[in-house]
Amino acid sequence: MPVAGWFGQIGLAMLEMGTYHEHMPADDLIDRLGILADAAKYDASCASSGTAKRNSRDAKGLGSTEGMGICHAYAPDGRCISLLKLLLTNHCVFDCHYCVNRKSSNVRRARFTPQEVVELTLGFYRRNFIEGLFLSSGIVRSSNHTMEQLVEVARCLREDHDFRGYIHLKTIPEADPELVHQAGLWADRVSINVELPTAGGLARLAPDKDAATIAGAMGELAGAITEAKDAGKRYRHAPRFAPAGQSTQMIVGADGASDAEIVGRASGLYADYRLRRVYYSAFSPIPDASAVLPLRRPPLLREHRLYQSDWLLRFYGYAPGEVRAAMEPDGMLPLDIDPKLAWALKFRERFPVDLNTAPREALLRVPGLGTRAVKGLLAARRHRAVRLADLAKLTTSVERLRPFVVTADWRPTALVDREDLRARLAPRRETQLELFG
Ligand code: SF4
Repeated sequence: MPVAGWFGQIGLAMLEMGTYHEHMPADDLIDRLGILADAAKYDASCASSGTAKRNSRDAKGLGSTEGMGICHAYAPDGRCISLLKLLLTNHCVFDCHYCVNRKSSNVRRARFTPQEVVELTLGFYRRNFIEGLFLSSGIVRSSNHTMEQLVEVARCLREDHDFRGYIHLKTIPEADPELVHQAGLWADRVSINVELPTAGGLARLAPDKDAATIAGAMGELAGAITEAKDAGKRYRHAPRFAPAGQSTQMIVGADGASDAEIVGRASGLYADYRLRRVYYSAFSPIPDASAVLPLRRPPLLREHRLYQSDWLLRFYGYAPGEVRAAMEPDGMLPLDIDPKLAWALKFRERFPVDLNTAPREALLRVPGLGTRAVKGLLAARRHRAVRLADLAKLTTSVERLRPFVVTADWRPTALVDREDLRARLAPRRETQLELFG
């Protein structure tokens, strides 16, 4: 019996516990669960990624980092929640070159009915394996037909079963706007993938998709989310619409776009559609890949640096142009150091920063000081002069901070001007993390 790792075994356990009816053969269900959970792993907008591969198949130890099917997301209040991550089907009438499920790929295909996804979700939920559902799909028959089925899963969970767990629905921009709108009425979060950073890349690698259609659908969702939020402020019982907002995903490294183009696109998306998150997914060579794709994946460290630059934009007050200023002349983020340090090394005249007098904005620019450390510093200095020992309680490495800060008992002498500062501060070895292995 083909069993898809630990995820299949969980499904098997559920069958043994009698969750499923006799009309649902165990082999078939687990097989489909394996195929459709594995096919969903390429969507990064809900992923536990960036860790080394480990398992306990040799009967030693406990646990695994390799399984697909359950992923983690963060609720608006910051809680980490486990989601059943599935495709409704990996059949698709589109032929996006970068996608393992494209029409011309010869992967094994499978399909769930909406009712089956509902039963799976409820079964996993009742057994406390998950707290919600992340559901996406290939396009089967037509965009409208597929969108109807996705909406039906969410509607049935909410209306027929009073399901109060988290639901993230991928929506299909080519579908009727009314159907896309319905997704927001049932789901906590909705997302539409912009797929590639540039319109040229999209036209070349996803010939069935259209940048203007994607932008239009994202704009409609953004408008509906804002409207519902405003109504919620006025009326206690105003209908909810995607209260956890909208997100999107961009594939990095498939189309030759530079980091400068990616950061520019991401900041435009945040501004235009008030997105909660832009996810970056390092292009991963797929089985039976199209000849127009690069043969090698970009370093996963590049994806990591893009996430760091995204945080600079969202939480540290950097303008897109400032993030671009931290890049190398070829428009790429350096891989050996993080973008905040790269920016500081380019603008050394802004340092050292006096931790006892500088405003919050200047503190946030100090490499090695995160938002929590800055909050702690601001609180501490209300009561006493901050010393290096205080810094040690708030950060992991005071040594790396020394060139950039002044405290009551420390003032660097020309340290920030040293030519070898970059080499001294670059971590000795960055481990390449595996996403899908
Ligand atoms: S629409 Fe494109 S990206 Fe989505 S499943 Fe089909 S081929 Fe893959």
